[in-house]
Amino acid sequence: METITDTELQIQIDNTTLELSEGDITELYTDAIVNAANASLILGAGVAGAVRAKGGPTIQQECDEIDGCPVGGAVITTGGNLKARHVIHAVGPRKGEGDEEEKLRNATLNSLKVADENGLKSIGFPAISTGVYGFPIERCAEIMLAATIDYLQQETGLKKVVFCLYGEEAFGVFEGVLKKLQ
Ligand code: ADP
Repeated sequence: METITDTELQIQIDNTTLELSEGDITELYTDAIVNAANASLILGAGVAGAVRAKGGPTIQQECDEIDGCPVGGAVITTGGNLKARHVIHAVGPRKGEGDEEEKLRNATLNSLKVADENGLKSIGFPAISTGVYGFPIERCAEIMLAATIDYLQQETGLKKVVFCLYGEEAFGVFEGVLKKLQ
């Protein structure tokens, strides 16, 4: 693994580029973006609110047909009017509900797996569970980045995994953790 740039940090893991960027995830051109979903797959606030606002009503309609997803799981819909063709809805844990770390790791791994199962080449993640669900962002960065690195060291068709962080502070936390994990 080597660092290529600093402001948009990129490292290479076998055949896949892992990148950190700062901004609004609904602006990404990756094959899929990950929604920080809830178990009832109702698009509410935060990332889900932005996905609903920019993606249009079809995403919620597709979610309604799926009938929920367990915490730690991930399901896929189309991306409606988003730049990304798909949305992978990953259900992160709520702080204090128990087994949060395992559930967050599983939500990350299952999202990557769903992307691979659907033949996708690129995926963008937000910092799952660190908004409304109250999970600490530094620990989130440690868990999500370590899970992603583990996953990418096995066979995968993914060429690019982006972590899209909302704001400089969140970007700085992920940057610090990724540099430590390298
Ligand atoms: P959760 O319910 O899993 O906590 P949220 O959507 O409330 O999910 O927040 C998850 C993280 O995503 C938070 O760090 C929040 O600041 C960030 N976030 C909110 N909106 C966006 C967006 N449009 N793009 C990227 N990240 C976002």
